[in-house]
Amino acid sequence: MLTKRSFLTGFAATPLALASTPIVAQGKLSVVATTGMIADAARQVGGDLVEVKALMGPGVDPHSYRQTRSDIVAMARADVVLWHGLYLEAQMQDFLHELSERGTVTAVAESLPRALLLAHEDYADKFDPHVWMVPDLWVHVVENVRAALAAAQPQQADAFSANAATHLNALKDLAAYAAKIMATVPAERRVLITAHDAFNYFGEAYGFDVMGIQGISTESEAGLRRIADLVDVLVDRDIAAVFVESSVSDRNIRALIEGAAARGHKVQIGGELFSDAMGEPGSYVGTYIGMIDHNATVIARALGGDTPKAGMKGLLNG
Ligand SMILES: [Zn+2]
Repeated sequence: MLTKRSFLTGFAATPLALASTPIVAQGKLSVVATTGMIADAARQVGGDLVEVKALMGPGVDPHSYRQTRSDIVAMARADVVLWHGLYLEAQMQDFLHELSERGTVTAVAESLPRALLLAHEDYADKFDPHVWMVPDLWVHVVENVRAALAAAQPQQADAFSANAATHLNALKDLAAYAAKIMATVPAERRVLITAHDAFNYFGEAYGFDVMGIQGISTESEAGLRRIADLVDVLVDRDIAAVFVESSVSDRNIRALIEGAAARGHKVQIGGELFSDAMGEPGSYVGTYIGMIDHNATVIARALGGDTPKAGMKGLLNG
């Protein structure tokens, strides 16, 4: 019990801290996921048979996130660790590979069919990791999450399959909704300009030109040249809205709006998109379906499409 005590040193005196420590019920599978999106998939598939913790909360940038001491403890104790792969968690990659030699660790996007993946702008030998942006791609991740949970707890495999089937149906509805409203955006306005290149799959799926100020990884500095080029696009194509992202600074987007204004072209912020992280836990946009409903609805509306006031399920705030 020595090691266990050392973990709790400093916490034992504070009952509040102890009470907030997750208590894993007997028989429940403890799952740690890197991103909120993967944690959502694990909750949907695992239902009340799993206890899920996401390492990265709202507004956290997965490209630059590095595991904390408490993350390491959580992953070491978990029955199942789920991460994205495709070089999304660039700063955690070495650690996760090392961990995978010792436990049940799965990179849930790594095994997507190569034919479905887009090239990575920054690395010739890698793929664009942002596959969650399109429900039809995300279904592969959900399927991999189901397989990982079933492998860790084979006696619950049927329950995981039933939950997965329900969630996959909901994702079908989401895909149909997104396709329907994106198709209402006038063809000449199908240009999506955001802070970083998270929306290439989205653009590919719905026929939009996508331009990020920064490359796929948020680590690269946006050059002044890139901003000047995008101002040209805004003016030449008469684009009325650009978008900020919850997990990336809006500094560059504001520089873009100022650059367009200096040339007499008014651009507004079309809204805040959830690019690499979901909204607050417990809220609708803190779920995968809410996140994508929000993104599709905000983009379609700002670019002149026809959308229901509060999104697919009436759960978005106007
Ligand atoms: Zn990203």
